[in-house]
Amino acid sequence: MITMGAEAVIEVEGLVKRYGDLVAVNGISFEVYRGEILGLLGPNGAGKTTTVECIEGLRIPDAGEIEVLGMKAGPTSYAIKARLGIQLQGTAFLPHLTVEETLKLFAALYPKSVPVGELLELVALREKRRSRVKDLSGGQRQRLAVATALVNDPEILILDEPTSGLDPQARRSLWDLISSLRERGKTVLLTTHYMEEAEHLCDRVLILDHGEIIALGSPEELISRHSEGIPIELHLGGDGERPDLSVLPGVRKAVWEDGTAVLYSDSPVETIRAVSALAEEGKIALQDLVMRRVSLEDVYLVLTGRRIRE
Ligand code: ATP
Repeated sequence: MITMGAEAVIEVEGLVKRYGDLVAVNGISFEVYRGEILGLLGPNGAGKTTTVECIEGLRIPDAGEIEVLGMKAGPTSYAIKARLGIQLQGTAFLPHLTVEETLKLFAALYPKSVPVGELLELVALREKRRSRVKDLSGGQRQRLAVATALVNDPEILILDEPTSGLDPQARRSLWDLISSLRERGKTVLLTTHYMEEAEHLCDRVLILDHGEIIALGSPEELISRHSEGIPIELHLGGDGERPDLSVLPGVRKAVWEDGTAVLYSDSPVETIRAVSALAEEGKIALQDLVMRRVSLEDVYLVLTGRRIRE
């Protein structure tokens, strides 16, 4: 839990990064506190990778200041790199090396490194140590990528979409691994476009949209701050007409996305009764109705009117 006065190990102030005319990151400021897992959440192209690559010193910002562990970040900030573990998006490995050989290769890059056996244990790859990288499953490969980021025993880990493309089981096993790193006192900054991941894994979530921060806080805070009631999803057929459903009893807000309407209601029973009446009168072509738990998905939907596509 983050308390007032927690130590900021990453400080980003007014970060701007452009690619030609495109403003990928538009003046964002935030801090990452020691010992937390902070998730940068946003759709493809929101600016997540650009932000973490500026922190890593791999990209040079057009404006703004970044400090990591009290030192100015940049391409030549070797004192930072020694204390940072980085997993890039889609880490490329040499396919014919074994898991053990890969870790030894990474370890050789640092004056001091964690013993390979310890890393294998930590990421649950001991049994696979003699397997070639090309024969690993997607989840095992990602665990190897995390192991390579841990080789120098860093204080801070930056993981760019660590679970992208994995099946739910492999994703959960990676969540357990990342949580165990927090228990070992590591600070983790990760990017994700999976709502469920941000909600389950992160102490705080920073939602990025078009290079700007649209929300920052713990998942619970964000949900209670931005939720507008219980979400009821209506899947509608018909000719794409969008009747004004915000006037139905109990509804505080109605958001449309293609053929789906999400009604946020204070009084779901009343709202559902009214929706059923509309369907019976033939005023809407209701195909399906789902009442669900309020989640970060709703925070994003309420703030942007869109969903993060997975
Ligand atoms: P993803 O989940 O797809 O990686 P992201 O949130 O990490 O998305 P970025 O990769 O930071 O987003 O990209 C932000 C914007 O900048 C996108 O519109 C992207 O196309 C653009 N962009 C990123 N890198 C470059 C580059 N080297 N040259 C030009 N445009 C770029």
